[in-house]
Amino acid sequence: MIIWGTYVTKKVVSTGQFYCPRCANHRAYKLRRPKKWGHLYWIPIIPMEEFDRYVECEGCKGAYQEIVLQHDPVRAQRDFEDNVSRMLCQVMCLMAGERDSVSPHLSDQVAASVRDILKIEMPPAAIQAVMSNGGNDLQAVLSNVEQQARLLSDRGKDMVLRAALAAATLPLTEARRTFASEVGKRLGMMPAHVSGVLAEFATN
Ligand SMILES: [Zn+2]
Repeated sequence: MIIWGTYVTKKVVSTGQFYCPRCANHRAYKLRRPKKWGHLYWIPIIPMEEFDRYVECEGCKGAYQEIVLQHDPVRAQRDFEDNVSRMLCQVMCLMAGERDSVSPHLSDQVAASVRDILKIEMPPAAIQAVMSNGGNDLQAVLSNVEQQARLLSDRGKDMVLRAALAAATLPLTEARRTFASEVGKRLGMMPAHVSGVLAEFATN
Protein backbone atom coordinates (compact mmCIF):
# COMPACT_ATOMS: atom_id res chain seq x y z
CA MET A 1 0.00 0.00 0.00
CA ILE A 2 1.31 3.42 -0.94
CA ILE A 3 0.82 5.99 1.80
CA TRP A 4 0.56 9.52 0.52
CA GLY A 5 -1.30 12.69 1.42
CA THR A 6 -0.68 16.16 2.77
CA TYR A 7 0.35 17.63 6.06
CA VAL A 8 1.19 21.05 7.46
CA THR A 9 4.51 22.04 9.01
CA LYS A 10 4.77 25.13 11.21
CA LYS A 11 8.35 26.26 10.94
CA VAL A 12 9.57 28.84 13.47
CA VAL A 13 10.73 31.92 11.56
CA SER A 14 11.79 34.01 14.55
CA THR A 15 11.31 34.39 18.28
CA GLY A 16 11.21 37.31 20.68
CA GLN A 17 9.15 39.18 23.23
CA PHE A 18 5.80 40.79 22.53
CA TYR A 19 2.77 42.21 24.31
CA CYS A 20 0.16 39.44 24.35
CA PRO A 21 -3.38 40.85 24.31
CA ARG A 22 -4.82 37.81 26.07
CA CYS A 23 -2.15 37.57 28.78
CA ALA A 24 -2.19 41.40 29.00
CA ASN A 25 1.55 41.27 29.54
CA HIS A 26 4.89 40.82 27.80
CA ARG A 27 5.52 37.21 26.78
CA ALA A 28 7.88 35.19 24.64
CA TYR A 29 6.56 34.37 21.19
CA LYS A 30 7.32 32.20 18.18
CA LEU A 31 6.60 33.53 14.73
CA ARG A 32 5.55 30.51 12.66
CA ARG A 33 5.05 29.92 8.97
CA PRO A 34 2.62 27.12 8.16
CA LYS A 35 3.27 25.27 4.95
CA LYS A 36 1.33 22.45 3.37
CA TRP A 37 3.32 19.57 1.94
CA GLY A 38 2.43 16.66 -0.21
CA HIS A 39 4.11 13.62 1.27
CA LEU A 40 4.87 10.06 0.33
CA TYR A 41 5.39 7.73 3.25
CA TRP A 42 5.53 10.86 5.40
CA ILE A 43 8.52 12.22 3.51
CA PRO A 44 7.71 15.76 2.32
CA ILE A 45 7.93 15.75 -1.42
CA ILE A 46 6.01 18.71 -2.82
CA PRO A 47 5.61 22.12 -1.14
CA MET A 48 1.97 22.89 -1.91
CA GLU A 49 0.72 25.98 -0.17
CA GLU A 50 2.08 28.63 2.18
CA PHE A 51 -0.25 30.19 4.73
CA ASP A 52 0.02 33.54 6.50
CA ARG A 53 2.63 33.63 9.21
CA TYR A 54 1.26 33.87 12.72
CA VAL A 55 2.50 34.69 16.19
CA GLU A 56 2.16 32.07 18.89
CA CYS A 57 2.26 33.19 22.54
CA GLU A 58 4.40 30.96 24.73
CA GLY A 59 2.23 31.83 27.71
CA CYS A 60 -1.34 31.18 26.60
CA LYS A 61 -0.56 29.40 23.29
CA GLY A 62 -2.87 31.90 21.55
CA ALA A 63 -2.30 32.56 17.85
CA TYR A 64 -2.30 36.11 16.52
CA GLN A 65 -1.79 37.94 13.26
CA GLU A 66 1.74 39.16 12.77
CA ILE A 67 0.67 42.81 13.18
CA VAL A 68 0.27 42.14 16.92
CA LEU A 69 4.07 42.52 17.18
CA GLN A 70 3.74 46.23 16.44
CA HIS A 71 1.16 46.78 19.14
CA ASP A 72 2.59 47.40 22.60
CA PRO A 73 0.41 49.56 24.86
CA VAL A 74 2.96 49.40 27.68
CA ARG A 75 5.73 50.78 25.49
CA ALA A 76 3.35 53.31 23.88
CA GLN A 77 2.40 54.62 27.33
CA ARG A 78 6.06 54.87 28.36
CA ASP A 79 6.94 56.72 25.15
CA PHE A 80 4.04 59.11 25.71
CA GLU A 81 5.19 59.82 29.27
CA ASP A 82 8.81 60.32 28.17
CA ASN A 83 7.87 62.68 25.36
CA VAL A 84 5.39 64.79 27.31
CA SER A 85 7.61 65.07 30.40
CA ARG A 86 10.50 66.21 28.15
CA MET A 87 8.27 68.79 26.46
CA LEU A 88 6.97 70.06 29.81
CA CYS A 89 10.50 70.36 31.14
CA GLN A 90 11.57 72.34 28.05
CA VAL A 91 8.76 74.89 28.16
CA MET A 92 9.08 75.39 31.91
CA CYS A 93 12.85 75.94 31.76
CA LEU A 94 12.53 78.34 28.81
CA MET A 95 9.82 80.29 30.65
CA ALA A 96 12.06 80.46 33.71
CA GLY A 97 14.95 81.63 31.52
CA GLU A 98 17.11 78.71 32.66
CA ARG A 99 18.35 77.45 29.37
CA ASP A 100 21.48 75.51 30.15
CA SER A 101 21.69 74.62 33.79
CA VAL A 102 18.57 74.06 35.84
CA SER A 103 18.48 75.34 39.43
CA PRO A 104 17.40 72.93 42.18
CA HIS A 105 14.30 75.08 42.78
CA LEU A 106 13.16 74.88 39.15
CA SER A 107 14.08 71.20 39.00
CA ASP A 108 11.72 70.54 41.93
CA GLN A 109 9.03 72.58 40.22
CA VAL A 110 9.37 70.62 36.98
CA ALA A 111 9.29 67.31 38.87
CA ALA A 112 6.13 68.42 40.71
CA SER A 113 4.37 69.37 37.46
CA VAL A 114 5.37 66.09 35.81
CA ARG A 115 3.99 64.25 38.84
CA ASP A 116 0.78 66.31 38.66
CA ILE A 117 0.12 65.87 34.97
CA LEU A 118 1.57 62.44 34.23
CA LYS A 119 1.71 60.71 37.64
CA ILE A 120 5.33 59.74 37.12
CA GLU A 121 8.64 60.74 38.70
CA MET A 122 11.22 62.71 36.71
CA PRO A 123 14.59 62.68 38.49
CA PRO A 124 16.76 65.84 38.54
CA ALA A 125 19.40 64.19 36.30
CA ALA A 126 16.76 63.53 33.62
CA ILE A 127 15.59 67.15 33.81
CA GLN A 128 19.14 68.45 33.43
CA ALA A 129 19.77 66.01 30.56
CA VAL A 130 16.77 67.35 28.62
CA MET A 131 18.13 70.90 28.78
CA SER A 132 21.69 69.85 27.92
CA ASN A 133 20.45 67.98 24.83
CA GLY A 134 18.82 70.62 22.65
CA GLY A 135 16.13 71.59 25.15
CA ASN A 136 17.03 75.26 24.78
CA ASP A 137 16.38 75.56 21.03
CA LEU A 138 13.22 77.67 20.96
CA GLN A 139 11.90 76.62 17.54
CA ALA A 140 12.62 72.94 18.17
CA VAL A 141 10.83 73.16 21.52
CA LEU A 142 7.76 74.79 19.94
CA SER A 143 7.49 72.17 17.23
CA ASN A 144 7.86 69.50 19.90
CA VAL A 145 4.96 71.12 21.79
CA GLU A 146 2.86 70.88 18.63
CA GLN A 147 3.78 67.25 18.15
CA GLN A 148 3.03 66.14 21.72
CA ALA A 149 -0.21 68.16 21.88
CA ARG A 150 -1.88 65.61 19.61
CA LEU A 151 -1.82 63.08 22.44
CA LEU A 152 -2.89 65.45 25.21
CA SER A 153 -6.42 65.99 26.50
CA ASP A 154 -7.81 69.53 26.79
CA ARG A 155 -7.21 69.38 30.52
CA GLY A 156 -3.63 68.19 29.93
CA LYS A 157 -3.01 71.13 27.59
CA ASP A 158 -4.37 73.59 30.12
CA MET A 159 -2.13 72.06 32.80
CA VAL A 160 0.96 72.34 30.58
CA LEU A 161 0.34 76.04 29.89
CA ARG A 162 -0.28 76.76 33.57
CA ALA A 163 2.87 74.87 34.59
CA ALA A 164 4.88 76.89 32.06
CA LEU A 165 3.50 80.17 33.40
CA ALA A 166 4.06 79.13 37.01
CA ALA A 167 7.74 78.60 36.19
CA ALA A 168 8.14 82.18 34.91
CA THR A 169 9.32 84.94 37.18
CA LEU A 170 6.65 87.61 37.68
CA PRO A 171 5.72 90.12 36.44
CA LEU A 172 5.62 88.51 33.02
CA THR A 173 7.86 90.23 30.49
CA GLU A 174 6.52 90.83 27.00
CA ALA A 175 8.88 88.17 25.63
CA ARG A 176 7.55 85.59 28.08
CA ARG A 177 3.92 86.51 27.35
CA THR A 178 4.63 86.03 23.66
CA PHE A 179 6.31 82.69 24.28
CA ALA A 180 3.44 81.50 26.51
CA SER A 181 0.87 82.54 23.86
CA GLU A 182 2.82 80.63 21.25
CA VAL A 183 2.95 77.56 23.51
CA GLY A 184 -0.84 77.80 23.95
CA LYS A 185 -1.30 78.14 20.20
CA ARG A 186 0.95 75.16 19.44
CA LEU A 187 -0.93 73.15 22.05
CA GLY A 188 -4.02 73.80 19.91
CA MET A 189 -5.86 75.77 22.62
CA MET A 190 -8.48 78.38 21.75
CA PRO A 191 -7.00 81.93 21.73
CA ALA A 192 -9.62 83.10 24.27
CA HIS A 193 -8.66 80.27 26.61
CA VAL A 194 -4.96 81.17 26.32
CA SER A 195 -5.66 84.87 26.98
CA GLY A 196 -7.77 83.93 29.99
CA VAL A 197 -4.99 81.86 31.53
CA LEU A 198 -2.43 84.58 30.77
CA ALA A 199 -4.66 87.22 32.38
CA GLU A 200 -4.91 85.10 35.53
CA PHE A 201 -1.13 85.00 35.84
CA ALA A 202 -0.72 88.70 35.04
CA THR A 203 -2.91 89.71 37.96
CA ASN A 204 -1.50 87.23 40.48
ZN1 LIG B 1 -0.56 35.03 25.81
